Amino acid sequence: MVIQGLRAPQTEDILPDKWYNILPDLPEPLPPPRNPDGSIVSPKELEAIFPRSLVEQEISTERWIEIPEELRTIYLELGRPTPLLRARRLEEALGTPAKIYFKYEGVLPTGSHKINTALAQAYYNKLEGTKRLTTETGAGQWGSALALAGAMFGLKVRVYMVRVSYEQKPYRRIVMQTYGAEVVPSPSPYTEAGRRILEQDPDNPGSLGIAISEAIEDALKNPDTKYSLGSVLNHVLLHQTIIGLEAKRQLEALGEYPDVVIGAVGGGSNYAGLAYPFIYDRLRGKSETRFIAVEPRAAPSMTRGEYRYDFGDTAGMTPLLKMHTIGHRFVPPPIHAGGLRYHGVAPTLSILVNNGIVEPVAYRQTEIFEAATFFARTEGIIPAPESAHAVKAAIDAALEAKKRNEKITILFNLSGHGLLDLKGYQDYLEGKLRDAEPEKIDLSYLPKLE
Ligand SMILES: *Cc1c(COP(=O)(O)O)cnc(C)c1O
Repeated sequence: MVIQGLRAPQTEDILPDKWYNILPDLPEPLPPPRNPDGSIVSPKELEAIFPRSLVEQEISTERWIEIPEELRTIYLELGRPTPLLRARRLEEALGTPAKIYFKYEGVLPTGSHKINTALAQAYYNKLEGTKRLTTETGAGQWGSALALAGAMFGLKVRVYMVRVSYEQKPYRRIVMQTYGAEVVPSPSPYTEAGRRILEQDPDNPGSLGIAISEAIEDALKNPDTKYSLGSVLNHVLLHQTIIGLEAKRQLEALGEYPDVVIGAVGGGSNYAGLAYPFIYDRLRGKSETRFIAVEPRAAPSMTRGEYRYDFGDTAGMTPLLKMHTIGHRFVPPPIHAGGLRYHGVAPTLSILVNNGIVEPVAYRQTEIFEAATFFARTEGIIPAPESAHAVKAAIDAALEAKKRNEKITILFNLSGHGLLDLKGYQDYLEGKLRDAEPEKIDLSYLPKLE
């Protein structure tokens, strides 16, 4: 017997041949990146650390951007289109009349959506003669993706990994090394920024901000080297739209269209990837779909932050971006969803939040792991702690539909699996998980830019 609507078709035709760029469709123009003195950062300045084609994508007003055939082939070889699955056993366990579908990015080789942009970035760098890429990584999901992308396109990759993670989370470091990347604990002796810190404090545990400073300094000093970023920027978000474009075609084949689209937000790339192709319809008045973006209460940029200019990194090295921020100096409590601890959010997503198109919600990590465990026991997949935020919001939407007896269709992004994040599950199962959230958010130190 064939059960209708459990699994959408997965063929080459499902993978799109163009990315969707939301810039020309935004309800208001995107404020430009600025320097601390207020001057606008020029594309030329960005080309010091990024290849020209990615800077062009960053500011492009073309709605559709061709995916190069060579890259599209690699997407197919690595397992795209990813499955769109129906969580039927979860629906039954909740007793909801709602249908719950999820796009599963965890089947990709490094276990999350991040490889989608890593491959694109490696491709364009290779095309423009870059020999070597640098980046930073905290937990290691982004570093793993870039390490694999470097291996596939013949680029050297150096990953500055926050020292505490390097020592305490060896498995993702080993993943990166297996792909041939050079992983150095940050602060490192390879950069001035690193040496300065090590001189004063040889046991400094490092931070994402220090690692970013080192990766950028390395790229600026070596002419054959560029820097690579895994979220927040427009070119990164648009590479991820293959997720939503595939989901649209897969749902269409099942005769479905989502009433609610849900995803977890760190910098915003996996959520934008799933949601923007559907927001395209809503902005044209063709749907009334709700869009729910989920963040942790521990790092509540969208729900408690302010919309203003802030640095992209904790060290204040990058241009200032106008976005919802809780301040680059904010140090979030050490929750297990490391990928959601970012202080800001993608500027395009901020505009959609301001215009009431995307609704932000925030959850505690105990309720996140409860939802993730329930999902694992019904659907079999152990979600990444980041992705579990989307699972929790999908469950809540399904329970609300049950209360109102509404047969809605829910779509969420399961951005990655949690098989390298078992410490969080261990703490949850042993009752050791703690919740924490900032009491107040101080932004008085931020530059005052309009
Ligand atoms: C990095 C990561 C995130 C958060 O980053 P976004 O840019 O907001 O997508 C979410 N889920 C997983 C599995 C990640 O690795």
